[in-house]
Amino acid sequence: MSSPQSATRYIFVTGGVTSSLGKGIISASLAKLLQARGYSVTIQKLDPYINIDPGTLNPYEHGECYVTEDGAETDLDLGHYERFLNIPTSQANNVTTGRIYQSVIEKERRGDYLGETVQVIPHITDEIKYRIKLLGEDNRFDFVITEIGGTVGDIESLPYIEAIRQLRWELGKRSMVIHLTLVPYLSAAKELKTKPTQHSVKTMLEYGVQPDILVCRTEKPLNANIRNKIALFCNVDAGSVIESIDTNSIYKVPLLMQEEQLDLVVLRKIGMSTRKTPAMRSWRAFIKKLESPKKQVNIALIGKYVELVDAYKSIIESLIHAGTVNNCRVNLKLIHSEQIDQKNMAEQLKDVTGVIVAPGFGDRGIDGKIAAIKHVREHGIPFFGICLGMQCAMIEFARNVLQLPKSHSTEMQETTPDPIIDIMEEQKKVFVKGGTMRLGAYPCKLKKDTRAYALYGKEHISERHRHRYEFNNKYLEMFEQHGMTASGIHPDTGLVEIAELDNHPWFIGVQFHPEYSSTVAKPHPLFIGFVKAAMQCCS
Ligand code: GLN
Repeated sequence: MSSPQSATRYIFVTGGVTSSLGKGIISASLAKLLQARGYSVTIQKLDPYINIDPGTLNPYEHGECYVTEDGAETDLDLGHYERFLNIPTSQANNVTTGRIYQSVIEKERRGDYLGETVQVIPHITDEIKYRIKLLGEDNRFDFVITEIGGTVGDIESLPYIEAIRQLRWELGKRSMVIHLTLVPYLSAAKELKTKPTQHSVKTMLEYGVQPDILVCRTEKPLNANIRNKIALFCNVDAGSVIESIDTNSIYKVPLLMQEEQLDLVVLRKIGMSTRKTPAMRSWRAFIKKLESPKKQVNIALIGKYVELVDAYKSIIESLIHAGTVNNCRVNLKLIHSEQIDQKNMAEQLKDVTGVIVAPGFGDRGIDGKIAAIKHVREHGIPFFGICLGMQCAMIEFARNVLQLPKSHSTEMQETTPDPIIDIMEEQKKVFVKGGTMRLGAYPCKLKKDTRAYALYGKEHISERHRHRYEFNNKYLEMFEQHGMTASGIHPDTGLVEIAELDNHPWFIGVQFHPEYSSTVAKPHPLFIGFVKAAMQCCS
């Protein structure tokens, strides 16, 4: 729904002083407010690293890899964009320096620049500009918000800032720059300090970019003096100094930004109508429920990256959404899969009434995951296995119920006599790592009279994937005879997408990633059902 108010507007979001100030959440919050006023908005993240995409990055480096419907392996900020806006993103919404250079070099080899010296300016900057404008093509969106990863002043983000400078010049009033900075509080001096912000804006000015709006991350409210001081030193009006105060939930940030009138300031500066007030009623209702849960539930998430919550961002957010639907606060216990075994299992899981086994790759921590699944299967504790979590559940079932003790996945043990989980046929000829898994959304058909069918309330679903291995259908009959039902199947290949235990309060494993598609407006039915089962369990 493109507004008749003419062409797409471009908003660039840069960050200064430090990383982790929450550019992604600020971008998503602004987008939410604009969307709530009836504008169509998309958000794009440009990442200045040289990997083609984050698919090959260790979660310790960059947190979770988020997968879009069209199968792009992307930055976790895209997860926030989708969770806030409830509209899908795509490959075009995440571009890295690696991808920019790759296409420039491909063009050079093809002879597109024949005779020219290929340089950062204009060739790399042109490619960056092209990727930004691509999203605004055909005026599909009223607003394209482009978040630049990293911090201003980094060597690697220079071409991006230069591209913004050029675009500001080309697009004029149809574009603006929001710069996010830190206003630290020095407890010894009992003062908020504006100098880092001044320096950060100075760095921007050196590159020829004057920010239009400053969003200042702070622990304490910014008083008028501070706002005026920042305005004076940074060439913006005091109304364009926006406070972004620490809060206990990312979902409150859109409301805080609305109080600070970020959306109004943006619309006025960029020449778009401010007539409609944002329709934030359902968002507020969500926050209200989030803030006043009637119950609590303890759920364990077992994985090998639990020191780093960013590695499981989408699962954690999906549980928050599902908890809110159930009027319940989900207390998450993160358990390292290398630190649990049969001996300490009962102790580790004694307070929890639901267990998720996380996705993952490789065999580190596998034994702990399998032992935990045996425990919850035998004790009737609700279980939700996601991707590798589902594969582990199948291995555990084969070993302990089907009496095939040497069962394994060929990912972990190539020579296993019972390859319950095996490499997908189409993956056998794949030798290159980046972007070659089974990625993105695929259809799945649900079997009637199953828990999965009851939860989704429909027969045909579509879910996103990221894997190379699958359940080995040679064993399916045996599994089903013993009470493990394949309740979701890929309609063309017969690949088992969902497996569930018949005689258990709630035991579901999914080969796909439901966590990528849970949003505030549309929490995922499997997470809702799982949290509900955990609330009912063991009471
Ligand atoms: N390593 C498993 C596979 O490739 C599971 C992947 C995952 O959990 N995302 O099939």
